[in-house]
Amino acid sequence: MIGLTILGATGSIGKSTLAVIRQNPERFRVLALTANSNVTEMLAQCLEFKPCYAVMLNDGAASQLAQQLKSLNCSTEVLSGRDALCQVAALDENDMVMAAIVGAAGLMPTLAAVRAGKRILLANKEALVMSGALFMDEVKASGAELLPIDSEHNAIFQAMPVAVQNNLGFCDLIAEGISKILLTGSGGPFRYSNIADLAAVTPAQACAHPNWSMGQKISVDSATMMNKGLEYIEAKWLFNADESQIQVVIHPQSVIHSMVQYTDGSVLAQMGEPDMCTPIAHAMAYPKRIPSGVKPLDFFEMGELTFLKPDYTRYPCLKLAIDACYQGQVATTTLNATNEVAVDAFLTGQIGFTDIARVNATVLEALTFSEAKSIDALIEIDAMARIDAQQTISRVTK
Ligand code: NAD
Ligand code: MG
Repeated sequence: MIGLTILGATGSIGKSTLAVIRQNPERFRVLALTANSNVTEMLAQCLEFKPCYAVMLNDGAASQLAQQLKSLNCSTEVLSGRDALCQVAALDENDMVMAAIVGAAGLMPTLAAVRAGKRILLANKEALVMSGALFMDEVKASGAELLPIDSEHNAIFQAMPVAVQNNLGFCDLIAEGISKILLTGSGGPFRYSNIADLAAVTPAQACAHPNWSMGQKISVDSATMMNKGLEYIEAKWLFNADESQIQVVIHPQSVIHSMVQYTDGSVLAQMGEPDMCTPIAHAMAYPKRIPSGVKPLDFFEMGELTFLKPDYTRYPCLKLAIDACYQGQVATTTLNATNEVAVDAFLTGQIGFTDIARVNATVLEALTFSEAKSIDALIEIDAMARIDAQQTISRVTK
């Protein structure tokens, strides 16, 4: 049995991971589950999957969970706090760790799994955006195995030659005959809206993604296309790609999950239903294949596939992220942190939808660019960016 820990078990990716395990109960054993504060969901998961450990970030939530588990005679041990997240990520018995905490909060637990040399199923793109080269260096140094869960990066991975798959972060695309990574994105719920109407968009409208069902933060990021921008940066690090080797393509139907173009003219695409259980099952079983529970793609039902060039006036966040990618690690860490604060302010009604890009641009413009040399330095930059973002939001809302 393959032992696994799920960081962020109560979220959208966490639940999809458990759904894949439900399809393959003889293959996987859940060792630890973690969450921020959702006791009800965690309790149900513990009763069903009987992990050795359940970690709640929040202390109050942890004692509540422990009491309820005890009264139901479930022997799962409850831990709490950030250190406990890192502890269960590095358990000796873990063969793989699903990194599915949302945002920069996932960085240290994900790194703990990397440092322990595990197979990392990487959904938490913000961790990689924030730490870039330093993260990839740690993967190489520890011998950890990285498998992308983000549907686009998983698709690209599947369309890459084995030499690239086995050398993520340090591969040579040109030597492998690859000319371009075609990173597809649906364009989100507002791809056909009048640009002038975007300022009045509500959180509920922004979170209603046409093709995918996801957590709130990534749903808003998909509506601004910041998600594609973060994915652009993620692709650069995973596939050691430069500016001329990544192209964003809007593909509203989300049937093709991304493509790789080769120098001989071939284009390899990975397709499927828009359901995260497919990339999760792929990464859990790689290089084998297992059932994911996802229905097969029906070519006679899907209709036409269309493709568009991204328009940066509609999606200024996409442009900000691509620019930040080439400005360096301080810029991408700053953008990631600022965006988390801005998205939260939008979701809690403090700023409008189009203010997200405005706040991100304002904080980035004030940057004096330089490279950060350690994870600790990046964590400091992240903290400073959050303060700058809050101050900018206070000015916007005055
Ligand atoms: P979500 O909001 O549904 O779930 C987030 C999980 O992280 C929850 O279990 C929550 O309890 C936990 N969490 C939140 N804040 C935390 C903190 N400070 N410390 C510890 N745990 C915390 O998010 P999601 O949609 O599942 O996304 C998770 C990650 O996967 C994100 O990085 C996202 O970009 C990425 N991703 C998601 C999808 C998707 O379809 N949902 C697709 C691709 C990539
Ligand atoms: Mg994605």
